[in-house]
Amino acid sequence: MKAIAGNGETRAMPELEPVLSRRVTVLGATGSIGVSTLSVIVNARAVYGQHVLPIAALTAQSNVAQLAEQARAMKPEIAVIGDPARYGELRDALAGTGIEVAAGREAVIAAGARPSEFVMVAIVGAAAIEPALAAIRRGATVALANKECVVAAGAVFRAALDGSSATVVPVDSEHNAIFQVLNGGDASQVERVTLTASGGPFREWTLEKMRDVTPEQAVAHPNWSMGKKNSLDSASLMNKGLELIEAHYLFALPDEKLDVVVHPQSIIHCMVTYGDGTTLAHLSAPDMRTPIAHAIGYPVRIASPSRKLDLAHMGPLSFFAPDSQRFPCLDLAMGCLRSGGLAPTILNAANEIAVEAFLDRRIGFLDIPRVVESALETGEAKLSNTPPADLETVLSADGEARRWADVACRSLSA
Ligand code: NAD
Ligand code: MG
Repeated sequence: MKAIAGNGETRAMPELEPVLSRRVTVLGATGSIGVSTLSVIVNARAVYGQHVLPIAALTAQSNVAQLAEQARAMKPEIAVIGDPARYGELRDALAGTGIEVAAGREAVIAAGARPSEFVMVAIVGAAAIEPALAAIRRGATVALANKECVVAAGAVFRAALDGSSATVVPVDSEHNAIFQVLNGGDASQVERVTLTASGGPFREWTLEKMRDVTPEQAVAHPNWSMGKKNSLDSASLMNKGLELIEAHYLFALPDEKLDVVVHPQSIIHCMVTYGDGTTLAHLSAPDMRTPIAHAIGYPVRIASPSRKLDLAHMGPLSFFAPDSQRFPCLDLAMGCLRSGGLAPTILNAANEIAVEAFLDRRIGFLDIPRVVESALETGEAKLSNTPPADLETVLSADGEARRWADVACRSLSA
């Protein structure tokens, strides 16, 4: 393939050809990660030629106007809206474009199953489990931004991956960093993997002050621009807890090799320490277009519009131990990682319900870990011996945990 460089020169890039000719599916195209993914693709087309990275499918849950606009610009084969009531709206918005239109939960899963070589999983929450598994089972390269599917369905996810020819490239910045540092090496030689956490907007707040946190304050992240749930999870440190479990399943790392350090500048994303005393770190500006571009280009490097690092103008980098008194979600998640079984499934589902209730102003910020703990206690009594052998077991535990968490939210808001 001959590719056109930005300055009009023609460059031969044989190693890029197989990567840039892949058809792309974006599940959750209208979210923060979805929009950044499309911006990396638009940039790649400007650099390498308008024909690169053709779009197979775009999906969204409810924002028809945004999805239709994206579809008109990117010309996918199909656009899918998750909310079945919005089918007519999307069909009308794309009339005359030749783009196929579908709606409903099954259509989102079918978009994951539909042929394409590269799938970005940017749906938020456990709703990504089935579409992600559909893409893995057919052997696609799967760029995994969504962490909840790995946390909720870790063993099932792992088994599907081991039984398929799929390649998963983590996009969550810390896990993308670990993936790059390990570089296909043997994770059993690793002594410790440290994930960094920004500490979120309440890093220096007292417990007293945290009691009155509003949803607006909680979703205003100091470093990253993200969807509401990921921002809120970062503020409670549940995000880092979910990420410990995600790292366990993605890299087969036992809990005793995983830890967290608070690093407010979000420049170092992971550190991997070996027995000889070497620690390898991954650095980049806090810009999700970097891990997204890495995943789209993998195993080669493509151009990205991401911000680049300029350490000399940045000032000092600092590091602290996390405070488990003010941020109990981290220990809750670590406890679930240690217990295994369905504990991570319950943790994730209960957190999703608590996040929704907090954003709806039905419970307070400090109630989030209380709701999760309450669901875990109920789950321990009812589900302790159930192994998550298959997807049905996971989805049924996820559903039950949502009900338990809902009960806890009601009693806290009563
Ligand atoms: P977001 O809320 O901005 O976007 C979510 C997308 O999923 C939207 O396109 C929405 O239409 C779709 N969606 C929502 N509910 C759905 C459902 N039930 N079924 C199908 N589609 C649904 O979220 P985001 O911040 O882009 O995050 C996406 C995922 O990536 C999350 O799992 C998050 O933890 C992870 N992640 C995000 C960031 C970030 O910077 N935003 C960083 C690391 C990891
Ligand atoms: Mg992350």
